[in-house]
Amino acid sequence: MRDKHLYQQVLGINDPWQVFDVDLNPEKQEVRVHIQRKARVPLACPQCSKACPCYDHRRKEWRHLDTCQFKTILVADIPRVKCSEHGVHQIPVPWAKQGSGFTALFERLVIDWLKEANIKAVAGLMGLGWSAVDGIMQRAVKRGLARRDDTAVFRHIGVDEVSFQKRHEYITVVSDHDQNRVLYLADDRKITSLDGFYKSMNDKQKSAISSVSMDMWPAFINATRRCVPDADAKIAFDRFHVAKMFNDCVDQVRRAENKALLADGDHCMARSRYNWLRHLGDVSRKHWPDFKALRTIAVKTARAWAIKEYASTLWNYISRTWAEKAWKKLLGWMSRSRLPAMVKLARTIRKHLWGIINAIVLTASNGKSESMNSRIQKVKSRSNGFRNRERFRNAIYFHLGALDLYPSLNKDGLTYVTHTDS
Ligand SMILES: [Zn+2]
Repeated sequence: MRDKHLYQQVLGINDPWQVFDVDLNPEKQEVRVHIQRKARVPLACPQCSKACPCYDHRRKEWRHLDTCQFKTILVADIPRVKCSEHGVHQIPVPWAKQGSGFTALFERLVIDWLKEANIKAVAGLMGLGWSAVDGIMQRAVKRGLARRDDTAVFRHIGVDEVSFQKRHEYITVVSDHDQNRVLYLADDRKITSLDGFYKSMNDKQKSAISSVSMDMWPAFINATRRCVPDADAKIAFDRFHVAKMFNDCVDQVRRAENKALLADGDHCMARSRYNWLRHLGDVSRKHWPDFKALRTIAVKTARAWAIKEYASTLWNYISRTWAEKAWKKLLGWMSRSRLPAMVKLARTIRKHLWGIINAIVLTASNGKSESMNSRIQKVKSRSNGFRNRERFRNAIYFHLGALDLYPSLNKDGLTYVTHTDS
């Protein structure tokens, strides 16, 4: 088999296209495959399919998968047609998306690598520029988002925020708990940030939502109340965020008590912070006697700690009535604790108790969303941060959106489906 026939078959090039030359440059370690369109095959406008005369040709090149160690470039003079209605247009080619300098197969390979390494590393590995790889990634996300089913129904969703580079710059993240994927991202954490997600849904989709896990951020509560029917029975303040509030409260009490003890020259609370934040069962046997003794001296912190520990046991009720009873008992204890930070927390919890009880009976913990949050942090650290929020959003969709990212290939597995893809 001659080399051009070999390439014709390997590349899946069919009529009216043909490989007419293959150039091997051993010095540059490069193969250039020249493709042409048979001159006698009539041309059509890509917009209206009307037969059109050839206007001119433009030379284009596409990077393809390497041939062994040789960089492989496809080269073709692509005809442009002049349509009386739509003007001058380049005709599409079956191996690449218009405007891309890569074949569909090469883009697939880059997408595979991008799943494993950051843009800079992939660019180095493939001998490409940073923006070329970034372009492939952005096109993949755009393609994946366009392919999503707009009518899909989500039962359990979670709303959370992740911080961008600077403090107080956030991205709102909506995730699908059932499939553990990111559904929607928006700048900031305002009502409008979350509104955008709900507005993209029809009434049936909104009604199908059975739980929305979140922290107690008012904008998320308000946006959900505004858009989701019967929201007050569906909003669930998740266990993770509530536990964090208790931990912060214990820490506040500990700092104040430590300061008071230090003023009396008592250093007994030094380096005890993590023991107070741990769960009872997580304090090691080795540290247990010291911790037990400490609790008789640091009485305020010990009281706050006991309340926190008790609160962590109140998440397993099935009945709303019993859950409410238990939490109200806890709130009474907190209010009488004579610890200002705990009394303040009791007020916050009392105001939001309805959503905590929802979380318990709907078992709609944002635990999954939290693991999503840590997965997002991994995306962030792998890329050594992002220059802007758009890139950050794009990377989150790429890695965590469970999107169909690849260019569609024809049955031959080689050429690009030109008419259906974005
Ligand atoms: Zn036309």
